[in-house]
Amino acid sequence: MKGVYVLVISVGKNIKPKIGVLGKIGFKKGLYAYVGSAQNNLEKRISRHLKKRKKKFWHIDYLTANKVVTIKKIYYKKSNKKEECITAKKLSRVGVPVKNFGCSDCNCESHLFKIRDYEFLRKFGFAETPPVVQFTD
Ligand SMILES: [Zn+2]
Repeated sequence: MKGVYVLVISVGKNIKPKIGVLGKIGFKKGLYAYVGSAQNNLEKRISRHLKKRKKKFWHIDYLTANKVVTIKKIYYKKSNKKEECITAKKLSRVGVPVKNFGCSDCNCESHLFKIRDYEFLRKFGFAETPPVVQFTD
């Protein structure tokens, strides 16, 4: 399946990890939503996000590798790539952007947002976790 996904990320306490070339970024304890897309094998991409040990390639890898960070929920939608930035724009209306995060290849302000809840993602047309995905610690 190809599509767009939103990771709902829980940051367990205030942290300031190094996010690749972006340098150190402060994250307040709380929930964040990250939007990404996979043009093939969405399931595999999502499984990769759930692994703690991995080569860090995307900005999000630096965040999810942190030990106080967990992926709480995953939403997805079958779609083409442009839906990724459309979703980022929608998220910017409900969340606070972490500037320049995850958007090196587009003109968005960010693809990561601090959010208060995530129920609204259903209104954006997203479904919950694909059944093939197994959460692991
Ligand atoms: Zn974008």
